[in-house]
Amino acid sequence: MTITEMTPDARIAATAAEAGTGAPALSVRDLVLEYPDGENGTLRALDGVSLDMHSGAFAALTGPSGSGKSSLLAMAAGLVAPTSGTVHVAGTELTALPRAERTRLRGERIGMIFQQPNLIPSLTAREQLELAVHLDRTATRADRTAARARALELLERVDLAAHADKRPHQLSGGQRQRVNIVRALMGSPALLLVDEPTSALDQERSAAVVELLGQLTRQERVATLMVTHDVEFLDATDAVLTMVDGRLSRPSA
Ligand code: ADP
Ligand code: MG
Repeated sequence: MTITEMTPDARIAATAAEAGTGAPALSVRDLVLEYPDGENGTLRALDGVSLDMHSGAFAALTGPSGSGKSSLLAMAAGLVAPTSGTVHVAGTELTALPRAERTRLRGERIGMIFQQPNLIPSLTAREQLELAVHLDRTATRADRTAARARALELLERVDLAAHADKRPHQLSGGQRQRVNIVRALMGSPALLLVDEPTSALDQERSAAVVELLGQLTRQERVATLMVTHDVEFLDATDAVLTMVDGRLSRPSA
C-alpha cells in the first residue's frame, strides 16, 4: 500500500503550506497491534491508526492509561512490529525493513526521550551527547570533531554551555532533563518520540519542558510526537491528538 491511499486521522504540520510538501517525517497507515489475551483471544492495543506528521510539527498525544499511546510510539520507533499496517519514517517504510536495517534507520532518523533521564553517572553532559559517536567504531576523527561541535551547540541551545563538563550528580533535575532532551537530537533525527516527559515534574518545570520541546522542534525541523497526561501546557503544540481504545480521534483544531 502506498502512503497516499488511506486518509490519515490527522495530518499535522507547523504551517498549512508545509502540509503539502515532501514526504512526511512520520506516516502511519491503518496500524493494528494485537496482543494474545487468554486462551484464544486477542487484545487490540491499536485498532486502525493513521497519522501524518511533517517536519517542524509538534503534536501531543493524550488519552487514558491503556489506550495505546506507548504502543503507537513503540511502533513508530520500529521497536515493536505491528500486526498489520505500515509506518514510514522520512519516506522509508520502517515496517518493511529487516531488523538490522530497522535498527540503523532508528539510529539515524529517530530520537527517543523517555520519562526518566537515563544519563550515565560517570559521563559529563558533553560526553553523554558524544557517546553514540564514541561507541561507533566506524566513526572517523572528523566525525568525532563534528560530534563535539554539535554537542556543544546543543548544550548552548538549552543554556548548559557552562555545565558541559559536569556529571549528572552535579546538575539539577531540570538540567539533567535538558541534557536528556538534547542528547536525543544529536543525530539530527527526522522524528522525535517523547513518552511522558513531564510526569515526574512539577507544573512549572513541566511547562518549561514542553515549551523547550516546541522550540527545539522548530529550530531542528524535527517532527515531535509527545505522549503526555498534562493537557494544561499544550499551547506550544500544533495539534493535540486523543487516543481512546486504540483509536485516534481527529483533532478539533
Ligand atoms: P498507554 O501508553 O496509552 O497507557 P499502552 O500502549 O501501554 O497504553 O497499552 C495499550 C494496551 O495494550 C493496554 O491494554 C495494555 O495492557 C496492552 N499491552 C501493552 N503492552 C503489552 C504487552 N507487552 N503484552 C500484552 N499487552 C500489552
Ligand atoms: Mg504509556
